[in-house]
Amino acid sequence: MGKKSKNTDVNPDWSYSPAPESADHIQINKKNDLFIDGKFIPSKKGNYFETINPANEEKLADVAEADQSDVDKAVKAARTAYDKVWSKMDPAERGKYIYRIARLIQERAREFSVIESMDGGKPIRESRDIDIPLVSAHFFYYAGWADKLEYAFPGKKAVPVGVAAQIIPWNFPLLMAAWKIAPALATGNTVILKPAETTPLTAMKLAEIIQEADLPPGVVNIINGAGKTGRAMVEHPDVNKIAFTGSTDVGKLIMHSVAGTGKKYTLELGGKAANIIFEDAAIDQAVEGIIDGIFFNQGHVCCAGSRLFVQESVADTVISKLKDRMESLIVGDPLDKNTDIGAINSKMQLDKIKMYVDIGQKEGASIHQSSCRLPEKGYWYAPTIFTDVSQSHRIVQEEIFGPVLAIQTFRTVDEVITKANNTPYGLSGGVWTDKGAKIFQVSRAIRSGVLWANTFNKFDPTSPFGGYKESGMGREGGLEGLMPYVNLV
Ligand code: NDP
Repeated sequence: MGKKSKNTDVNPDWSYSPAPESADHIQINKKNDLFIDGKFIPSKKGNYFETINPANEEKLADVAEADQSDVDKAVKAARTAYDKVWSKMDPAERGKYIYRIARLIQERAREFSVIESMDGGKPIRESRDIDIPLVSAHFFYYAGWADKLEYAFPGKKAVPVGVAAQIIPWNFPLLMAAWKIAPALATGNTVILKPAETTPLTAMKLAEIIQEADLPPGVVNIINGAGKTGRAMVEHPDVNKIAFTGSTDVGKLIMHSVAGTGKKYTLELGGKAANIIFEDAAIDQAVEGIIDGIFFNQGHVCCAGSRLFVQESVADTVISKLKDRMESLIVGDPLDKNTDIGAINSKMQLDKIKMYVDIGQKEGASIHQSSCRLPEKGYWYAPTIFTDVSQSHRIVQEEIFGPVLAIQTFRTVDEVITKANNTPYGLSGGVWTDKGAKIFQVSRAIRSGVLWANTFNKFDPTSPFGGYKESGMGREGGLEGLMPYVNLV
């Protein structure tokens, strides 16, 4: 059994002034239908499921559940729109529609931020300053490419792939919708998007914007449902391309299902990023980078820096500073502008985090948790650090997807490269050092799609993102993000 550190003596009722963002004038439709062929329509069977606010477990809305026949209808609408309108449209015209979507999202940014935080549990500061601005930035960026594909692929003609089925997760709901929809539209494809079951609401608001932007019917279809709906989309014979972000397990199922069909696919799956701190790093900045790396969005981040490697000579200092900083994090109401860590997205995810923390303790790791007081209703987890862990611990090898950091030490560059690469994943990583040469040495040797140097969790629409090994295949973002949506002739 692992040792439990004593929490420092901080008064949990410490005095900061709550600054809640008002949700009074936010309109959430109590009933959300499927968005197919430019219209909101009920599902064939008329089934609905609930989406709740994970911060208080209160119901927010009912959402229509699509079955096979609804998927058929959406694919048919997308196919007709592709054949008759979108693939034939002048690319500059397509670009104008995408610009319009970007601008409308900017105009309604506050509404989107509040709904994203209510439906998903993430702090308003993050949805307001990171998620939603990046959403419009993605649409702006890909709108720009629509009529410049000949420069993206010189000497080749980029032909759209056709109908894309896009399945997204719950950790960055609207941002993942933008990552998927924007490049697909810019290259002349039509789409059917399925948000995750626990976070459908901002995608349904996006459907309103798509209507408002007057996009031709069927170019974007948004349907909801569980894994079964996603599977029906993947297996549909008239779909040409699958874009999936989610768990490695479902990613593997998708690979099996598309094998031999000729469908194109991109998979953005899990991660277990190494954040590496060398003794010559600016320690205070590195500590902020570690905190951001693991606690951003409650750790529900595929590229979270969930494995920390600290050079032995500075380990005591870094760990002590980390514990102090962790203690100062504010956990609570996602709509409060002071909040650093919001609610865990679902009961299922909370149970998974608890299971892994239990495993960590049983495997002999030492646990350190913030003494913050957690709200009684809703799904919450205190920020947690594990020390005394080794490479074989499950909390080091497996993706937890929560605010839980596992810390190891190292002595040499070669040692940390070997340890960092000792994972089935390869999505992201971080290196903190004063020496440029060391940055290049480490970044060349770490097998991950993204490696940040002296920073962490920085995203930009111009920059490709994606993984190696069990973290998936294909890239989203940047010029590379156009490639999965075109055939070059
Ligand atoms: P899933 O992979 O199950 O969900 C991702 C999306 O795929 C959701 O829209 C989901 O629908 C859908 N889906 C589920 N099953 C299928 C299927 N057979 N075919 C097609 N689509 C399907 O992830 P979970 O939400 O279950 O999370 C489990 C774990 O996955 C997390 O704990 C985390 O470790 C990891 N994860 C990684 C993410 C990443 O960004 N890389 C994002 C989310 C999770 P529905 O929501 O209805 O189940």
